[in-house]
Amino acid sequence: MASASDVLSFAKEHNAEFIDVKFCDLFGQWQHCSYPMAIIGEDEINEGFGFDGSSIRAWQPINNSDMLMVPDPSTVKMDPFFARPTISVIADIVDPVTKELYNKDPRGVVKKGLAYLSQTGIADTCYIGPEPEFFVFDDVRFQSSQHQSYYQIDSSEAHWNSGRAEGTNLGHKVGPKAGYFPVSPIDSMGDLRADMAKAMQDVGIVVEAHHHEVATAGQCEIDMKFAPLLQMADQFMWFKYIIRNVAKRHGKSATFMPKPVYGDNGSGMHTHISLWNGSTPLMAGDGYAGMSELGLNAIGGILKHGRALIALSNPTVNSFHRLVPGYEAPVTLALSQRNRSAALRIPMYSPSPKAKRVEFRCPDPLANGYLSFTALMMAMLDGIQNKLDPGEPLDRDIYDMTEEELSHTNVAPKSLGEALDALEADHDFLLKGDVFSKDLIDSFIGYKRENEIDPIRLRPHPYEFDLYYQA
Ligand code: GLU
Ligand code: MG
Ligand code: MG
Repeated sequence: MASASDVLSFAKEHNAEFIDVKFCDLFGQWQHCSYPMAIIGEDEINEGFGFDGSSIRAWQPINNSDMLMVPDPSTVKMDPFFARPTISVIADIVDPVTKELYNKDPRGVVKKGLAYLSQTGIADTCYIGPEPEFFVFDDVRFQSSQHQSYYQIDSSEAHWNSGRAEGTNLGHKVGPKAGYFPVSPIDSMGDLRADMAKAMQDVGIVVEAHHHEVATAGQCEIDMKFAPLLQMADQFMWFKYIIRNVAKRHGKSATFMPKPVYGDNGSGMHTHISLWNGSTPLMAGDGYAGMSELGLNAIGGILKHGRALIALSNPTVNSFHRLVPGYEAPVTLALSQRNRSAALRIPMYSPSPKAKRVEFRCPDPLANGYLSFTALMMAMLDGIQNKLDPGEPLDRDIYDMTEEELSHTNVAPKSLGEALDALEADHDFLLKGDVFSKDLIDSFIGYKRENEIDPIRLRPHPYEFDLYYQA
């Protein structure tokens, strides 16, 4: 167990001048504050640092705003993005009066989830392997014709046309859905991804591969080796931070928006998950696709709670532009082996029981990993406890199936509003063991409705001008 004195030794070893304390808000964004090492001792690290909890979205009311961020010493790393040597730690949020973990701190949800996992006696470890995809664009904010550049990102037609009919011809352009994965110079992002992957390795992330993805407009994927849930949720924060900052240093900007380009593939974050007891993998057995009964029941849990889970794993209005047929994103909450059109796939690459896992294909990279990964585990535990049957697998191309053929399956929500309604109606499985609080769920739903769904619904969409301006 790392301690405050380990943080101080690490700082000394690296001649750090500052310590940067980071925590994740309810919607998956890192917040931070830096302190000079000159004033930091073990007490400061153990007791934590005060901040205004009312200035963080959907957290504390103004009359109860004092909160503490308490660094987890085991998370100490060098932060590669400060010019002056700075160490970084990830903090838990603690109530300064009760000294308890704050019920709306996503990292606290993971900690409570893991304690609940042990309490159930079902498993002691939950491994997570996410595959976040992202797009890289020119950093339009620093170009002169801002309006035009934003338009290029917003509308795929403008984007494609710029290289074909109207703008300067810069050579052959790859068409929509043709990016996966020819060598350079068609893939022009290799060096950028390598810089990103190297920065990830430097903070201890095990990178397995980096490659261009299917969409043509600079869609990329960098794969991390699976890791225990808390470690992976922390790593996912580093992952996004590194991608955004390395892109910026190359004069580019990276986005985790699930569907930035109309007519091309979106960015998912398929989430591979497995439960283990000590060194025993629990998902492998002699059932369908080499799964154990426990594994199939776990899938039954994901299918039962899938519509509610999607509110946490696909938490934006934009997420639902991705979950449509034809772009390798799932639309149906069904189980299948090897099938990329189903929400739950059992990868068949390796016969080893250790590799046996479920891939939930709905999530996208705007999910808050702490909440989304823990909710997925909670749905699986509910399925195991109630011996839920996942039903008949769908081993065919679901995009080819008619509405009638699909009616017996569970269809994924078509909008954020539908997903939030599902979460509002189905969240008891998350409250077990006080892992999620009702307060967190209500705040999450309320914030999304008020700050995202309504403001988007009330604005005329640019495409309405194409359709109606001169109609
Ligand atoms: N980009 C696809 C999605 O939206 C996934 C492609 C893949 O299978 O990696 O989920
Ligand atoms: Mg991919
Ligand atoms: Mg995948």
